[in-house]
Amino acid sequence: MTVIDAPETGRFQSLSSRITLWYAAVIAVTFGAFILVATGGVERYAESVATGEMAANGATFDKILELEAQQMRSSAEVLAADFGFREAFAIGDQPTIASALDSLRERAGAPLAIMIPLQGDIISTGVSLVPSEHDALWDAVDRRVDRGVFQVGGRFYNAVAAPIRIPDLAGWLVLARPLDAAAMREMAKLAPEGMSASIRASGTLSNGISLAQASGKAPLVADIRGQPTLFWSRSLKSFDAQSRPRLVLRYALGPALDQYAPIKYLLIALSGLGLLVSTAIGAFVARGITRPIAALDQAARAISQGSRDKVAIQSSDEVGRLAASFNIMVDSIAEREERIIHIALHDELTGLPNRKLFAEQLEFALARRTDRERVVVMYFDLDNFKAVNDTLGHPVGDALLKAVADRLARTMTGALISRQGGDEFAILIDQVEPGANLALLADKVTAVFGEPFRLAGSQALEISSSIGIAVAPGDGDCPDDLIKNADLALYRAKNEGRNRSCFFEQAMDLEARKRHQMEIDMREAVRQQQFHLNYQPLFSLEKNRIIGFEALIRWRHPTRGLISPAEFIPLAEDTGMIVPISEWVVNEACRQATHWPDDVRIAVNLSPALLKNAGLPLMIMQALHATGLPPRRLELEVTESLFIDNVERTLAMLNSLRECGIRIALDDFGTGYSSLNYLRSFPFDKIKIDKSFVNDLAADHSARAIIGAITALAGALGMETIAEGVEDSEQLEALRSQGCNNIQGYFFSRPVDIAQVHDMITNMRYERGERQPTITQMTKIRA
Ligand code: C2E
Ligand code: CA
Ligand code: CA
Repeated sequence: MTVIDAPETGRFQSLSSRITLWYAAVIAVTFGAFILVATGGVERYAESVATGEMAANGATFDKILELEAQQMRSSAEVLAADFGFREAFAIGDQPTIASALDSLRERAGAPLAIMIPLQGDIISTGVSLVPSEHDALWDAVDRRVDRGVFQVGGRFYNAVAAPIRIPDLAGWLVLARPLDAAAMREMAKLAPEGMSASIRASGTLSNGISLAQASGKAPLVADIRGQPTLFWSRSLKSFDAQSRPRLVLRYALGPALDQYAPIKYLLIALSGLGLLVSTAIGAFVARGITRPIAALDQAARAISQGSRDKVAIQSSDEVGRLAASFNIMVDSIAEREERIIHIALHDELTGLPNRKLFAEQLEFALARRTDRERVVVMYFDLDNFKAVNDTLGHPVGDALLKAVADRLARTMTGALISRQGGDEFAILIDQVEPGANLALLADKVTAVFGEPFRLAGSQALEISSSIGIAVAPGDGDCPDDLIKNADLALYRAKNEGRNRSCFFEQAMDLEARKRHQMEIDMREAVRQQQFHLNYQPLFSLEKNRIIGFEALIRWRHPTRGLISPAEFIPLAEDTGMIVPISEWVVNEACRQATHWPDDVRIAVNLSPALLKNAGLPLMIMQALHATGLPPRRLELEVTESLFIDNVERTLAMLNSLRECGIRIALDDFGTGYSSLNYLRSFPFDKIKIDKSFVNDLAADHSARAIIGAITALAGALGMETIAEGVEDSEQLEALRSQGCNNIQGYFFSRPVDIAQVHDMITNMRYERGERQPTITQMTKIRA
C-alpha cells in the first residue's frame, strides 16, 4: 500500500484554488459586512453621545440664561427699592429716572434698561423701541412674565422684569442683555469642539434645513460638506407672547468621529489579516480535500499503466469511502487479472503451468543461477499414450494425464512441473548443487510410473515414460536451447527403446541438425526423383528357383552419394515423408514386376508408420490397378511393431488387403519379444526369420533350435518361412535341415538393379528350358 502524493501541478489545482477563492470571497464579504456594521455602530454611538452632549448643553444654556436673569433681576430690584428712584418715579422726574436707568445698565452689565410705569409712557434706554415692541412689553408685564427671550429690532435679548412697588405695584423695570454672536461664542466655549449655538425664531438653518426639521425629539442628522452634522433645537422661555425663540445647536460630528477612526482602521487591518489567515486556512482545507482525490486520480492513472497499488484511507468521510471503494476495485481488477493470467499460463486439463509459463520460469531460473548452481530441465512423455487414447477413449486418456500430473506434483516437490501439450511434460529443477546426482532425479520421475494407474472406468494401466534431460550451463544457457536439447535427449530415449532416460549430448544436436537437413533434402529427392529401387531375389529351396524379388529403396543424394534406407526411412517415418515415398516405391515395384514371369512375385516393405494411414489400402489398390499387376503377385512385408498400437485397426486393414489376394509377410521375425504369440493373431502368408538368427547359427546352437521351432510352428499354422541374411553355404545347409522353405541373402545375390534383375530372369528361363537351376549354379549367377 502506498500513499501517493498529490501531484504538484495536477488537474485538481484549479479545484483547490476554486474552493480557496470561494472561501476567501465568503470571508471577505463577512468581514466587509462586519466592518460596515461596526463602523455604522460607531457612528451611531458617536451620534448618541453627541445627542447627550447637545441635550446637556441645551440645559446648560437655559441655566446660564436663568443665572444671568437672576443677576439682572437683583440689580433691578435694588434700584426698584431705592428711595431716590421711587421718589423720582412718584413725581415723574424723567431725567433722574433716565440717569438711574443708565447707572443700572452699567451696574448690571445689561445694555438695555426699560421702565414700564403702570401709568405713563415707557422709558427705555440703550435702545429705541418701536410701538409694537411697546405692546409686547405691556403684554409681557400684564402676564407677569418675569424673564425670557425678548426680540428687539430683530435681535434676541435675555430679559428680566422686576416690579416697582411704592408700596403697591406701580410699574416694572426690564433689564436685557443681547444674545448676539459674541455671547453665543462665549457660551460655546463650554460646549465640546465642533458644537455651535444660535438662537432662531424661524427660517432655514443651513443647506435648506428648516428650523422645524431640527425641532424633533432627536437631533436631525445632515451631511454638511461631507461631514455628518447634527442639528437640534429647544424652545427658550419667551418674554413676549409673539415670538417663539429656540436655541439651535449644531454639532459637526467630524472631529468626534475622527477619534474613532483608529478603531475603524484597526478593524480594517484586523479584517485584512483575518482574510489572509482564513484564505490560507481555506487553501489548506481545500488542499486537504483535493489531495486524496488527486491521489486517487494518480492511482487510477497508475492502474492503467499496470500498477496494482492501493491508496491509503486517511479518513472515514466521503473521500475515505471513495478510497475504500477504489481499493476494492483495485482488488477485483487484480483478482480478475490473476484469473486471466492463470488461464493464460496454465493447462486447463491438469492445472499445471503451461509451456509459456514454463519457458518464463526457466528464463528466470537461468537468470538467477549462480556460477556453481545448475538448472535441470527434464522432458518426458508417456510411452504409447496414443494407444491408451485410441483403445480406451479420450476420457480415460485425460484421466491418465491428470493422474500423472497429480503423482508428479506429489513426488517432485520443489520442482516446477508443466504440461507442454499432448502427453508431454517438462520439469524444471533449479539451484541444483554441483555434486547432486542427476540420475536420481530421473529415477524419481520413473518411480512415478512404477505403480500402475487405476482410473475410473478402466483396468489398471501399466505406463512407462521416456525422459530427456538437459542441464544448464553445459547443455545451453537459454530456455530455448535447454528445452530443445532436453527434447533431443527425449527423442534419443524413445529411439533407444523407450522406458528410459537419456542425458543430452552434443552429438545429439549434430544429429538433429543432420536430420533436419536430410528432411529438407528428402522433399527435394521426391521432386527430383533421386530414388531408385534395387531388387534382391527370394530363392525357394524346395522349388530350387527364384520365386520373387524384394524391392529395396536407394537414394542417390546429389552430394552425399548413396544413402542407406536404414538412415533415411526412420526420418521419413517421423516427418510423414514416408507416405509419398512409399507410394512411389509401390508403383515402381509393381510396374517393374509386370515384366516378370507370372510366378515371380514382388515384395515391398511397408513401414509401420504407413500402417496407421487409413489411405494405405486405396493407395495399394490404385497401384495394382494402374500397373495391371495381379494382387497375388504382390507381397507386403510388415514388421512386428504393427502389434504395438492400434492393433485391431491395423489387422483389419491387413485382412482386407489379404482378402484382395495380396500376400502379407512378417518381416524381421524374432526381434521383438513374445513374437510367437503374434503368429496366432494374424494369418501371415510368410514369416521372414531375422538375419540375427541366421548370423548366430554357426556359433550358437540354440539359434538352430529356435529356427527349428519357428519353422515347425509356421508349418503348423500354414505359413511359409524365409531366412534373410544368408551369407554362406553352412548357414544355408543349417536352415535347410531345420525345415526353412526359402532363403534370401548375399550367398545367393546382393540387391541388384533392374537390368540385372532382367538378366537373372532371362537366365532363369534359359535354365528352365535345359534343367532346374541348382545351388551350385547360384554361385555362378552371383559371380
Ligand atoms: P529389411 O526389410 O530387413 O531388408 C533387408 C536388408 O538386409 C536390406 O538392407 C538388404 O540389403 C540386407 N541384406 C540382404 N542380404 C543380406 C546379407 O546376406 N547380409 C547382410 N548383412 N544384409 C543383407 P537395406 O537395403 O539396406 O535395407 C534396410 C532396411 O530398410 C530394410 O530392411 C527395410 O526395413 C528398409 N527398407 C528398404 N527399402 C524400403 C522401402 O522401400 N520401404 C520401406 N518402408 N522400407 C525399406
Ligand atoms: Ca524386408
Ligand atoms: Ca528384414
